[in-house]
Amino acid sequence: MADVVLSVLAHPDDAEFLCAGTMARLVREHGWHAHIATLTPGDCGSAELGPEEISRVRRAEGARAAAVLGAAYHCLEERDLLISYNERALEKVTRLLREVRPRVVLTHSPADYMLDHEMTSVLTRAAAFAAPVPNFLCDRGHPPPLEHIPHLYYCDPIEGKDALGRDVPPGFCVDVGAVIEVKAEMLARHASQRDWLRKHHGMDRYVEAMREWGRRRGRECGVACAEGFRQHLGHSYPPDNLLGQLLGTAGGRA
Ligand SMILES: [Zn+2]
Repeated sequence: MADVVLSVLAHPDDAEFLCAGTMARLVREHGWHAHIATLTPGDCGSAELGPEEISRVRRAEGARAAAVLGAAYHCLEERDLLISYNERALEKVTRLLREVRPRVVLTHSPADYMLDHEMTSVLTRAAAFAAPVPNFLCDRGHPPPLEHIPHLYYCDPIEGKDALGRDVPPGFCVDVGAVIEVKAEMLARHASQRDWLRKHHGMDRYVEAMREWGRRRGRECGVACAEGFRQHLGHSYPPDNLLGQLLGTAGGRA
């Protein structure tokens, strides 16, 4: 069976900004399968459409973007601005891990500008630990527990900064120069968001902002375009840098 990389992020389009290039390389260079999960369907991501309507649009956009990688898209159906660390959400992420059985999991930085992202990060960290525990939620009809904790990596926070505006340097970077057009094509499939971001954030450069960020991380580590990561190295999580071994590390620690 092919190895699996799973991204668990808060909103549709977060993966396309933060880690889709790395996922594309695992798929193309190593034959891995990719799964893209979001905690919410992005129900607050519109000024015109109601929550149900924009959710329908964005689930479809998420699936179309994932299809560029031949990846499956999963929506865990929490709600924007309400993601929190609770049993229901933790069960959803744990069940997903037991279904998808990833070797590598990518999630948000523990420190980010947005609480939905930070909550998704702690939920994913906890689920990675819990999914192999046989007695954890063993009465809920889940697939069997994982054999072990998957390799867990945190993406860069948005704009590389925490909520206090401090830089969050990556532990290492993955060179995504060769797959930047794949990433751009995936992001462009989130058509509803370009309009929304222009209205709400005054940002009319949806795909260009992703490219600029990639170039900035790239400049810092000596390649054209990069994605930054930090590995979760707490007790009992796998400590070897599998992602770095497979894709090479640009800048930072190996
Ligand atoms: Zn987000």
